[in-house]
Amino acid sequence: MKKDDCIFCRIANGEIPSNTVYEDEDFRCILDLSPAAKGHTLVIPKEHFQDALNADDEVLSKIFKVAAKVGEGMKKALNADGINIVQNNGEAAGQTVPHLHVHVIPRYNGDEKMVTWTQHESDSEEQKRIAEKIAAMI
Ligand code: AMP
Ligand code: ZN
Repeated sequence: MKKDDCIFCRIANGEIPSNTVYEDEDFRCILDLSPAAKGHTLVIPKEHFQDALNADDEVLSKIFKVAAKVGEGMKKALNADGINIVQNNGEAAGQTVPHLHVHVIPRYNGDEKMVTWTQHESDSEEQKRIAEKIAAMI
């Protein structure tokens, strides 16, 4: 289903023009309006899902393949040395557009770090408890 008031539904379904780098029956891949690097692409399903945690299995199984295909094209077209594939779920995780999408970002040796986090030491007992807590909910 698509939502009339959702900008990514409208872009993915071609109601709003975009710089499309790839399209198939289920997805449109467009250049990000505010790119982290030249060529930064968004893989957007044509069907509306709020995020990956609310998407159906078929879309989830396809979206990463499409992202990899775009990444491959990007490496050849832009001579990228590496590719970040990033996906945010929920405002707390940095999601600003509530329609599932995957970022594909070309990276170059020595460029500024983009996708990073602060690493902390871990306690083995606590790790064990956390793993068990999550495992019990899956
Ligand atoms: P996220 O923060 O993961 O939800 O990513 C949303 C991305 O969509 C951001 O990188 C925005 O720059 C991008 N964006 C928002 N509106 C548009 C638009 N109309 N066309 C292309 N990209 C957009
Ligand atoms: Zn939508």
